Amino acid sequence: MDRDYAAHTPVFVGVLKGGFIFLADLVRRMQVSVLSVEFLRLSSYGGNKTSSGFPKIVVGLPDDAVENRHLVVVEDIVDTGLTTAATLRYLREKKPASIKLCVLLDKPERRRVPTLIDYVGFTVPDRFLVGYGLDLDQRYRQLPGIYILNQEPG
Ligand code: 5GP
Repeated sequence: MDRDYAAHTPVFVGVLKGGFIFLADLVRRMQVSVLSVEFLRLSSYGGNKTSSGFPKIVVGLPDDAVENRHLVVVEDIVDTGLTTAATLRYLREKKPASIKLCVLLDKPERRRVPTLIDYVGFTVPDRFLVGYGLDLDQRYRQLPGIYILNQEPG
């Protein structure tokens, strides 16, 4: 990523809440300077382990934080791809110079929207993961590692 942004100072757009620890670690490893760090928040799973459907932007960004900027969207995990699709649609309307997608975890088995990920950390199986920012009902985010949540029987 440092190589890709040698000529263009990027704006990192973290997708809350799950991506906050990954984003914090990522920016601290960047060699190139980062123009700014911004955050978006979408409606999400609402405490369930399955998606509630079509996510909406609940905390957005001002136009001037995006327009003509080189964006790196940073997400915790892409599952169905609906959250990413809503995020990218929202940002593209604000006319950035470029957008790349950086995702810690790619869970491709349940994908509903084809998603092109520019930078991916790990590909993971279709299990519910917690820790390192990922929660279940707001719990477990602070765990330093990533864990598979034991599935309840039935
Ligand atoms: P998608 O819209 O791609 O189905 O889901 C993306 C969002 O769902 C992620 O940003 C995350 O908040 C949540 N999500 C998807 N899979 C998992 C998972 O295994 N564990 C947790 N904690 N959240 C997940």
